[in-house]
Amino acid sequence: MLLPQRLLEVVAGVKGFLPENEAIALMAAAASAETGVWLEIGTYCGKSTVYLGYVASQHDSHLITIDHHQGSEENQPGWEWHDTELVNCETGRLDTLPALRRTLWLSGLETVVTPVVADTRSVATWFQTPLTFLFLDGNHTEDVAPHLVIGGTLAVHDIFEDPAKGGQPPWHVVQRALASGEFVQTAQCDSLRVLKRVARS
Ligand code: MG
Repeated sequence: MLLPQRLLEVVAGVKGFLPENEAIALMAAAASAETGVWLEIGTYCGKSTVYLGYVASQHDSHLITIDHHQGSEENQPGWEWHDTELVNCETGRLDTLPALRRTLWLSGLETVVTPVVADTRSVATWFQTPLTFLFLDGNHTEDVAPHLVIGGTLAVHDIFEDPAKGGQPPWHVVQRALASGEFVQTAQCDSLRVLKRVARS
């Protein structure tokens, strides 16, 4: 599955850290997931949200995307991935929500994607919806996918087995998931891994 040309033009103008080959692999993972409620954790400016939202729109699914929109550690001033264009001049804080709103508006995916502006830890206290697809992006350390149904797909981005190449939390998430016996790996593309839930305790 590929994005239509008009959405390729949108994502070309969205800031983010998702190479095209990984985006295509992510779309393939979503396209093979069951219809239902899908969740993305780590929205940033919504680049991967467009890829996933488009697939959701073709599969009668709905995508929730969670981010506090204040940037990860590596996006803060003085860090490698800081972008001064994303700083709110009044608060002095990074704020990627306006960029996400623009992305969703340009892509026409506002009815398919529901953004949740919050820290995932606070969302975890009330979130109850069973998920058929979960994409973890950014440096997340949460326990793996308590709401992912059996047969559900877990995609994790930014996996670097070598600490010299990148942060370890995503790799640890995948290691824990595989070690639990509840997940099997079904695909891999550069720093993206795709797992399927085969059991739950
Ligand atoms: Mg990423």
